[in-house]
Amino acid sequence: MPKLKAIVTSGPTIERIDPVRYISNDSSGKQGHAIAKALHQLGVEVTLISGKVNIPTPKGVPIINVESAEDMLKAVESSLPADIFVGVAAVCDWKPEMNHLQKLKKNTSEDFLDIRFRKTPDILKIISNHELRPNVVVGFAAETENLIENAKNKLATKGCDYIIANDVSKAVFGSNTNKISLISQSNVEHWDEMSKDEVADRLLKMLIV
Ligand code: C5P
Repeated sequence: MPKLKAIVTSGPTIERIDPVRYISNDSSGKQGHAIAKALHQLGVEVTLISGKVNIPTPKGVPIINVESAEDMLKAVESSLPADIFVGVAAVCDWKPEMNHLQKLKKNTSEDFLDIRFRKTPDILKIISNHELRPNVVVGFAAETENLIENAKNKLATKGCDYIIANDVSKAVFGSNTNKISLISQSNVEHWDEMSKDEVADRLLKMLIV
């Protein structure tokens, strides 16, 4: 049987304001990297596409390092076709409309700086509706309220097969454990708190039989 192929996104994106400033988020990349490692250990040919993180790349896993949501989308599309796509990255939803070529100067007469933000491409939605759509598409939903309801909406609007919902109102970013709910069209499963490695193993047991 030919090797299964998977693409995993991990970590945060950063969206530049100027050459030395950006907006980003607290994603550590631990869950995405754990999923890439578990796929590799199962013999799946995995490409990890990661934003800026401070954790080691899992041994033997090829990585494409990216900064912005747009870079991440390009890297994912150029890695298609694949059998499985797992979008774990905390992709910034917004980017500054202007990425200034020079460092912005502090204007001493102004107390405020207005930055207009533009929506970034929704990678998960694009891949879920892509002509080369992988057979299995999994997304994550980090929520601080109405976890299940918001995750179910996400499953429908993005068009993926599973959403892994986690409540980030408590410490999840950077932590070694995760407490998630797995949501599909027909089912909602609540998993006990477990390590991010265990989440990865259990998820793959379900996806790859
Ligand atoms: O819409 P929201 O950011 O809550 O959805 C989270 C899921 O969507 C994650 O799987 C994330 O990787 C993905 N996402 C994306 N592109 C975006 C925003 C989120 O792929 N611009």
